[in-house]
Amino acid sequence: MLLHDWRRFGGGFRYALIAAFVGLLTLGTSDYAPAAYGADTDRPSLSDEYAKRRRLYEAISLRSGLEWPYIAAIDQYERTISQAHPKTRPLRQGAVAGVYVPEERWSGDLNPTKEDTNPASIRFFRGIGQDGSGDKIADRGKDEDLLYSVAVQALQYGSAEDDFSIGLWEYYHNTRAVQRIMQFAKLYRHFNRLDLSGHTFPLPLKSTYSYRSTWGNKRGWGGRRIHEGTDIFAGHGVPVRSTCYGIIEIKGWNAYGGWRIGIRDLNNLYHYYAHLSGFDKNIQTGDIVSPGQVVGWVGSSGYGRPGTQGKFPPHLHYGIYRDRGLVEWAFDPYPLLHRWEREEYKMLKGKR
Ligand SMILES: [Zn+2]
Repeated sequence: MLLHDWRRFGGGFRYALIAAFVGLLTLGTSDYAPAAYGADTDRPSLSDEYAKRRRLYEAISLRSGLEWPYIAAIDQYERTISQAHPKTRPLRQGAVAGVYVPEERWSGDLNPTKEDTNPASIRFFRGIGQDGSGDKIADRGKDEDLLYSVAVQALQYGSAEDDFSIGLWEYYHNTRAVQRIMQFAKLYRHFNRLDLSGHTFPLPLKSTYSYRSTWGNKRGWGGRRIHEGTDIFAGHGVPVRSTCYGIIEIKGWNAYGGWRIGIRDLNNLYHYYAHLSGFDKNIQTGDIVSPGQVVGWVGSSGYGRPGTQGKFPPHLHYGIYRDRGLVEWAFDPYPLLHRWEREEYKMLKGKR
């Protein structure tokens, strides 16, 4: 488990060309590991899916007054939480929206009609359910009604960024949820599109490196820990690149990881890069990054006070943690690394 603090978001974006390049080439690849989300393969086409979502967000934006990147961010955040909790947050058949509202929250705790769809009686019992489609029915099974109702809750304190984040906190009572939604909104606004699923391998493919699956190996330093990640061995100074579209969530020293950087992506995954020799000086916490963008260099920092290095051979420690709402859990990044490496080789070949 990894806990980290919330830093403010700053501005700044570079490498738009690399981003566009990588984005184009990886369009249509699935966001998720097939083992975890087998349902993805049933989708007709991801780009159709994104187009449908975008139309829905824009319609709800018109109706609610909340800008579409915020609506998209709420929806995507909720989708990632449902994917982490499929039993308690079941997917709706044919759903476009990812938001999930429990029955009592929709109709109101004391409402005797649990499946109430009448906006007036729902309001009377202080449920959040509203009609977002214009048919005078507050239907918890309908994309428009669900998204609109949650948007209205988030807008309770106003639409300015600070007011909106207070509205989100009032709705979720979870600081992490607020942080995620603000991060996601920033990404959607910046790129002005929903499909930000492209990935790259963390090191340039032309560099010399080696890695194998080391998940769960015992660690010598810092007590009893298991190895939560994959070690990619490479020479000192080999560039380390973001594997995804995301936001720099953490940057700095950590006793285990040395100089390390953490990037949050739109699947609510935290990508952790450790033992760096240093960071790209332009990269700040809160910055937006794209797949392939250099964020630092391979080193051997860590296992001691700030600046400690050379206690082990230089390598990149790469870990991925999934935010499950209240806690984060690591999963083995090896299969994803292997897949991104293969896909990048394939598209580089195709370009020649
Ligand atoms: Zn490692």
